[in-house]
Amino acid sequence: MSRNVSKIHKIAIVTDDLKKTEEFYTKVLGLEPIERFPATKPGDEYIFLRAGDIILELIPSEAGPVGFHHISFMVDDPSAELAALKGEGVKCIMDPVDAGSGINIGFFEDPNGLKLQVFCRTKVKTLVWSERSEPSDVYPDGINGAIAEYLKQFTVFDVRTAQITDDKFGLSEEALNWADVLIWWGHVRHNDIDDTTLNRIVKRVKDDGMGFVPIHSSHYSRPFKTLMGTPCGFGSSAPWGPEKISVELPDHPISEGVEDFTIEEEEGYGEPFQVPEPSAVVLKSTYKDGTTFRSGITFEVGKGRIFYFRPGHETFPIMKLEMVRRIIRNAALWVAHRH
Ligand code: ZN
Repeated sequence: MSRNVSKIHKIAIVTDDLKKTEEFYTKVLGLEPIERFPATKPGDEYIFLRAGDIILELIPSEAGPVGFHHISFMVDDPSAELAALKGEGVKCIMDPVDAGSGINIGFFEDPNGLKLQVFCRTKVKTLVWSERSEPSDVYPDGINGAIAEYLKQFTVFDVRTAQITDDKFGLSEEALNWADVLIWWGHVRHNDIDDTTLNRIVKRVKDDGMGFVPIHSSHYSRPFKTLMGTPCGFGSSAPWGPEKISVELPDHPISEGVEDFTIEEEEGYGEPFQVPEPSAVVLKSTYKDGTTFRSGITFEVGKGRIFYFRPGHETFPIMKLEMVRRIIRNAALWVAHRH
């Protein structure tokens, strides 16, 4: 008897009017869209909506007639599960395939002919690190805790937090070897990170392709400066106050679901930012005196992808803003080579 097919994680329905159906489930019922996948037909998409611990998936009508489509079970190994089910005489209707975005799925049927799915997702293992000098009244669980809390909502991430006060700064060989992505926030303790730890991080990025997302004052962190090979300072100090962030590359994966927005209270940085030429300038900031800064930029160093994200002065709860969190989520996927 197959014992691993036990956890329903998703119910899927087909609609011939995605817009209207999404509006119904989000605006009338209050479900929250958490992920979108392009369909074959341009403009169509598969949409995951969070409904408590379960996902409701909206499927465009390219996949079949309107109505119920399938119930999905989370398993560790779709091939093994389907083989076991076949052994029980269960009718299997599609062997497991790679559906993209780290997803592997196969289909079978119940005795009523209802379609059932085995689903497995290779997670993006994400280590969110902080030096924990951020004020605890703004971030009771640290900036790392705030980012982790958000990322944990998505099935694609396996999230751990670490901080400077942990053994080996929370950046042991084991911790870094586990991570596909390292998200980093530091400000006043950059130089407490020793050479052994620094070299371990740089090697993981350059040689192994671990993604790296330094945030805000982490432009002066040892790993970022070493990976850039430049001083990483900035020019004039822009005035504190509103920071208008514009999406320079709307088609870049890091811009997915992101629109121009303003952070009302922020610290300002001004150009020139002393970094090598970025591979992409995804976001740009403008302050009230007209000073600008390249505030969301990508680099490729060896096998690794890096996204530097400027916002996040620690005395303001910036990591709790929806657009900011969405950018960090998208960046984590991008540096993990998921886009
Ligand atoms: Zn700051």
